[in-house]
Amino acid sequence: MPLTPDQQAEIDAARSTPRQTLRAVSEGMEARLYHAHPVLDHGFVRVIDYMGDDAAICQAARVSYGRGTKAVSNDEGLIRYLMRHWHSTPFEMCEVKLHVKLPVFVARQWIRHRTANVNEYSARYSILDREFYIPEPDALNAQSVVNNQGRGEALSGEEAARVLDWLKADAGRAYDHYEAMISQEGQQGLARELARMNLPANIYTQWYWKVDLHNLFHFLRLRADAHAQYEIRVYAEAICEMVRDWVPAAYGAFEDYRLGGAVLSAKGLACVKRMIAGEEVTQETSGMSKGEWREFMGVVG
Ligand SMILES: Cc1cc2nc3c(=O)[nH]c(=O)nc-3n(C[C@H](O)[C@H](O)[C@H](O)COP(=O)(O)OP(=O)(O)OC[C@H]3O[C@@H](n4cnc5c(N)ncnc54)[C@H](O)[C@@H]3O)c2cc1C
Repeated sequence: MPLTPDQQAEIDAARSTPRQTLRAVSEGMEARLYHAHPVLDHGFVRVIDYMGDDAAICQAARVSYGRGTKAVSNDEGLIRYLMRHWHSTPFEMCEVKLHVKLPVFVARQWIRHRTANVNEYSARYSILDREFYIPEPDALNAQSVVNNQGRGEALSGEEAARVLDWLKADAGRAYDHYEAMISQEGQQGLARELARMNLPANIYTQWYWKVDLHNLFHFLRLRADAHAQYEIRVYAEAICEMVRDWVPAAYGAFEDYRLGGAVLSAKGLACVKRMIAGEEVTQETSGMSKGEWREFMGVVG
């Protein structure tokens, strides 16, 4: 369970005091506000705040004086047009603030998305909890033989058991020493800002992460992709569900044009045209490298 009873009580209290507002409200997002959605073994993602809805995107696109809404079908058509033509600034009018609890090695990938505002839990000031990500057996995979940046089949038998034992034992031992070093009982106690260097990258950290919808879609396009590392993908997938409830028309357009769509190179497009005309195109006659051809066939094959 990622939340303590006190933390859950704070969330319940926040949800039990609704206020009236003149601002745009998304009913789907209101239902999600503050709730923690569990991810991995100790992590979560939850919505702290948001600004705007589907209508706010149209309002900005039309630079309107009112809500910007015409008929819902018009709005959806406009949002799809904006997405199709990479007219991105109206999507930047919507923002979301998330509270995320995640392993440090996932945070290192996540933080590369620079167009967000972040405030992380301070391990100089506070003592980190004894919480480590230990993969489920089916997420404990061997190195991929076809992709240096990926994983293959799940480990099995004695090897799987040995790896799990090491992961648990090493994390526990490092944390024992962390606690012993910062302890002030009978000793000075090492500063927290130094003692933390002994902790492994599967320890959990937390942050508030605020981002606009355009840049969130960019993050989701890369991290909800089937090729993204499983441990960040599960967070991205949870956020996708939240965004679907928040801005259903914008999410629908994103799913269609970006997440489920594909971009073809000029060579790829020429090959598609030749294939439609009945020509048998091969990698050798395509003008593409082997890698490009494999990826191209992954899209159209
Ligand atoms: C499969 C995969 C593998 C990766 N492997 C590695 C790796 O091995 N090592 C590694 O270090 N990173 C790696 N990354 C991270 C990657 O290089 C990007 O840093 C990350 O995906 C963030 O993308 P971004 O810069 O587009 O996003 P953001 O930083 O959120 O930026 C969004 C957009 O804003 C603009 N922008 C933001 N900052 C600037 C800037 N300073 N100058 C100009 N334009 C800017 C760009 O248009 C950018 O696309 C990997 C990412 C993926 C998805």
